Amino acid sequence: MGKQEIISWIDENKLFFEDMAKKIWGNPEVGYTESFASELQIKALEKAGFRLTTGLGDISTAFVAEYGEGKPIIGILGEFDALPGLSQQVSTTYKPVVPNGPGHGCGHNLLGTAGVEAVLALKEQMEAEMLTGTIRYYGCPAEELLSGKTYMARAGVFDDIDCSLTWHPGTFNMTTNSSMQALTGIEFYFSGRTAHAGAAPHLGRSALDAVELMNVGANYLREHVPDGSRIQYQITNGGLAPNIVPDKASVYYFLRGANRRQVGEITERLIKVAQGAAMMTETTVKWEIKAGCYDTLPNKALNELMFNQASKAGKMEFTQMEERFAEELCQTLDSSLLEDAKKNKFGLNGEKALDPEFYHITKMYGMTMGGSSDVGDVSWIAPMGQIMTTCAPLGVQFHTWQATASFGSSIGIKGMHHAAKIMALASYDLLLNQDGALEKAKSEFVKNTSGITYEPGIPVDIHPPMQKTDTAAVSAI
Ligand SMILES: [Zn+2]
Repeated sequence: MGKQEIISWIDENKLFFEDMAKKIWGNPEVGYTESFASELQIKALEKAGFRLTTGLGDISTAFVAEYGEGKPIIGILGEFDALPGLSQQVSTTYKPVVPNGPGHGCGHNLLGTAGVEAVLALKEQMEAEMLTGTIRYYGCPAEELLSGKTYMARAGVFDDIDCSLTWHPGTFNMTTNSSMQALTGIEFYFSGRTAHAGAAPHLGRSALDAVELMNVGANYLREHVPDGSRIQYQITNGGLAPNIVPDKASVYYFLRGANRRQVGEITERLIKVAQGAAMMTETTVKWEIKAGCYDTLPNKALNELMFNQASKAGKMEFTQMEERFAEELCQTLDSSLLEDAKKNKFGLNGEKALDPEFYHITKMYGMTMGGSSDVGDVSWIAPMGQIMTTCAPLGVQFHTWQATASFGSSIGIKGMHHAAKIMALASYDLLLNQDGALEKAKSEFVKNTSGITYEPGIPVDIHPPMQKTDTAAVSAI
């Protein structure tokens, strides 16, 4: 009975959440500046009677909203940050709203909103049935910078949860059974001596030379790291002008690997490469770890629980107009992307651009996919269940204008409602501990984490870029 009421509540209130997701999509804010999205969600949760704590982990846009009393404590993880340069209208041709402006190319406008939708629906049912237990929505900033949840976890905000549920907009419906990579973000700052590059180059000690030599060293290191590791960099400061020997230059590295230990080892070796480059160029080098997220640890019991709700949530249906939009968008993709999407999706049907089926592919357990997420940190603190839903056509890559277009369209909104229903229904079972659902998830977690204690990957002396006391800076951006 309770489940049908949860679904009906979401159906009856869907326009409110559609409006929220579209507003966040229309006001894209990059990591640590998400004050519009954060305030919009806080207002809705406060109005519904949730208890709010803001400024988590010393981040102005991080918050938790809580309803209910006592155990179990179930956390739903939400995100709302956008990506730079991905501004795009809901159109099947490239048309930015603001040229080079930010955009929701990863669908976090949907991601966070579905979480709010799920907890508000659940709260209604908890009230109606006088259920005990606590539900929480975590507003998590800066996932795209892979650090928001690490700062929050470092502050201990997830320590008392019994489990968490989350999702991500996708190009098909699926439980997220594979793992994602651990990552360290580390920036190196070289300092040398400036000089006139034409008149007195012999007096200069170029920090940019050091950056370039470091990158050469890193590209040789690439061959001698475990399979599947990734080394990526961006020169964040390359000097001011060709005729000035740069005394300052910097480079930002992302290092990825199967787990934190592996990434830690690559980091140590890369630091040696940086020191070698500094020695060669008579410059000095300092570095700062800016992100340090864990690989994700899937929980079979929770993923299965979420999969079992998918049929109860109803099958997704798309209109002819949506199908046409999807097909037109797919025509803008390189054909190799489409072929790749169809071939490599572990037995998905792949015939339709918008796939309404829900897949639970157990052979993906134990596999590690490319990419990283700071949800990984939470998955090592308590059991975490995760799904993806169809919010974009098959073949569309995240972090592209086609993705921004999809996540602002009615296709994205449909996927968001579907995810909200599944998370709310699964949480309902967890609150009631139906068939020992919570116990199963916990005992699996204890087994998988035996001998491993969560240690945040960002050192304690590093502070988030936008701290909660820094309100002037937040509103100025
Ligand atoms: Zn994302």
